[in-house]
Amino acid sequence: MKEVLPIEEAQRRFEVYLQQLKLKKTPERFAILNCLYANEGHYDVEMLYTVLKAECRVSKATIYNNLQLLLDSNLVMRVVLDNQTAYYEKATLRPHYHIICRKCGRITNIQDQGLLNMLKTWQTKNFRMEQPTLLLYGKCKRCKQIK
Ligand SMILES: [Zn+2]
Ligand SMILES: [Zn+2]
Repeated sequence: MKEVLPIEEAQRRFEVYLQQLKLKKTPERFAILNCLYANEGHYDVEMLYTVLKAECRVSKATIYNNLQLLLDSNLVMRVVLDNQTAYYEKATLRPHYHIICRKCGRITNIQDQGLLNMLKTWQTKNFRMEQPTLLLYGKCKRCKQIK
């Protein structure tokens, strides 16, 4: 499933993006991008910090600032849960939604063309929907089995 850009392409686009803004190509910036593109799943700042501090000198503030840059470049997506925790992941080429286990906190991506079609045809006056977000809370299969 080709759902995300290859890591080299993401790096190239990020380089162009930084050039346009006349920003430096710092190793920390690319370390965050690489971490998200080399791994599956959703990372919060704590998790990113744990991974990245082993590789380069980085502070949480740097991670926050650069995540914003990566969000602005559309290479990274953010999902904010109802407990206010923000998770980051590589952007998928087609929209996806999230199912979240209340018990173990596991976040899973789902893609559903039917759902997407429904959202696309949904329209209301004076509003143009651009980015539907859907968070479905429940219990994952594994947690359902443990009572
Ligand atoms: Zn679970
Ligand atoms: Zn996701």
